[in-house]
Amino acid sequence: MSSAANSATDRSAYVIVGGGLTAARAVEGIREHDAKGSIVVVTEEDRLPYERPPLSKGVLKGDDEVDSVFTHPEAWYADQDVELRLGDPATSLDADEHVVTLRSGESLSYEKLLLATGSSARALDAPGADLDGVLYLRELQESMALKEAFADGARVVIVGAGWIGLEVAAAAADAGCSVTVVEPQAAPLLGVMGEQVGGWFADLHRSHGVTFRFGEGVSRIEGTERADAVVTTTGERLPTDVVVVGVGITPNTGLAQGAGLEVDNGIVTDARLRTSADGVWAAGDVANWESTTLGTHVRVEHWANANDGGLAAGRSMAGADVTYDPVPFFFSDQYDVGLEYAGHVPRGSGAEVVLRGEPSSNEFMAFWVVPEGDGVRVLAGMHVNVWDTIDAVQQLVRDRTVVGRDRLADPAVALDQLTS
Ligand SMILES: Cc1cc2nc3c(=O)[nH]c(=O)nc-3n(C[C@H](O)[C@H](O)[C@H](O)COP(=O)(O)OP(=O)(O)OC[C@H]3O[C@@H](n4cnc5c(N)ncnc54)[C@H](O)[C@@H]3O)c2cc1C
Repeated sequence: MSSAANSATDRSAYVIVGGGLTAARAVEGIREHDAKGSIVVVTEEDRLPYERPPLSKGVLKGDDEVDSVFTHPEAWYADQDVELRLGDPATSLDADEHVVTLRSGESLSYEKLLLATGSSARALDAPGADLDGVLYLRELQESMALKEAFADGARVVIVGAGWIGLEVAAAAADAGCSVTVVEPQAAPLLGVMGEQVGGWFADLHRSHGVTFRFGEGVSRIEGTERADAVVTTTGERLPTDVVVVGVGITPNTGLAQGAGLEVDNGIVTDARLRTSADGVWAAGDVANWESTTLGTHVRVEHWANANDGGLAAGRSMAGADVTYDPVPFFFSDQYDVGLEYAGHVPRGSGAEVVLRGEPSSNEFMAFWVVPEGDGVRVLAGMHVNVWDTIDAVQQLVRDRTVVGRDRLADPAVALDQLTS
C-alpha cells in the first residue's frame, strides 16, 4: 500500500503518525484547507485507521461486521492523495531536523507533523499475567479473540471495573458467560462516578447475572500454559476459562519524550493543538491540551476527542485559525442502557452528585456540582437513557451557570429553563 520512498530530502507537507480515529480525521481537516499538500500516514497496526468503540460493543457481540469499524475505505486515501505506511511505526523523531524514522529504517522529512499515537492498554502486574488466556482489549484482533473466547458458558474473570471492564462484562453476560469482575475499589468507575452512581452500575450488571468482587485485587493467575484461575488478594480462587484485563491505559508518549517535547500526562499542547516543538501537533488520547473553557490542560481518552481533536489538528496544521475548546464528552452502551457524559471534574474538586430521576428506572440523570453563590455550579452531567439532553448539559458546563439544586434535581424543570 505504500508508494514511492519519501527520503529526508523529499519533504512531505504533512506526516501523521498514528492509525486511529484521530489520524483519519486529521486527514479530513487538512484537506478542508489544503487540497494539494502531500500527506503521509504512518501506522503501527497493519491495517487502515479504525474506530475502537465497536470493539467492546457491536463487533464483540457479533452485531456489527468487522469491516464497519474502518473510518474510510482504502480507496478514500487514494482519492485524498494520501500515502499510507501501514505496519511500519515511527521509532524516533528528530524535531529539530523535522525528520521521523520508521521501524523499517526509512526516514520521513516533514514540514508539519501530527502525533496521534493514542494509548496502549496497561499491563496487569501479577504473577501469571503472561499466561495464554489472559486477554486485553485495545485492538481489533483482540476483540475478535474475545468474541471467540465468549463461547456460550465460558467462565470469564474480568480484572477492573472501568469502562472497558464493564462493557466487556455486558458483552460476555449477553453471550451467556458466567462473569466475575474483580475490582480493588468499592464500586465500579468510582473515580469518575462516585459511590452512588457507581453502585447503580454494579446493580445494573448484577441484574444481568454478573458477580463483583469489590475491594479485591489480583494476587496471581494460575495455570500451566493457559490461565485456569485467578487468585484474589483475599486468597479466593476463581476458576476461569478466560481472563480479561481492563486496568486502564497509558498514552503513547515515547516518540515525543525521546524528541524532548514537553510531556506531562500526555503530550502538552496549546489550544491550537501545537506541541512545544516547532511544526509538531498532537491530538486524541495522547494529547494533554489547553482547554480555554475549563481553564486547565486536559487529556481525554474518548471517541469524541479523537474525532473532533483530529479534525481540529488537521485544520490547524493546514493554517486555519483553530481554537480547540470542546466540553469533554463520552458515551457508553451496556445491555439496553445508553449513556452520555459531558464535562470535567478535576480531582479533589469535592464535587457532590445531584440525581434527577430515579436510577432504578434506568432512566435518570446525574450531575456533579460544587456549591457556588445561592446554588450549585455544574462541572459535569450524565444521562442514562434520557436522550437529547447532552447539549443542554454541555451548555451548563460551558456557561458555568449557577443553578438551584432543587430545580436541577427536578425532571419537570427543563434543563434550558433552570435559571428562569
Ligand atoms: C474497546 C474500546 C472501546 C471504547 N469505547 C468507547 C466508547 O464507548 N465511548 C468513547 O467515548 N470512547 C471509547 N473508547 C475510546 C476511544 O476509542 C479512544 O479515545 C480513541 O480510540 C482514541 O483515538 P486515537 O486515534 O487518539 O488513539 P488510538 O485509537 O489509540 O490510535 C492510535 C494509533 O496509533 C498507533 N501508534 C502508536 N504509536 C505509533 C507509532 N510510533 N507509529 C505509528 N503508529 C503508532 C497505534 O497502534 C494506534 O493504532 C473505546 C476504546 C476502546 C479500546
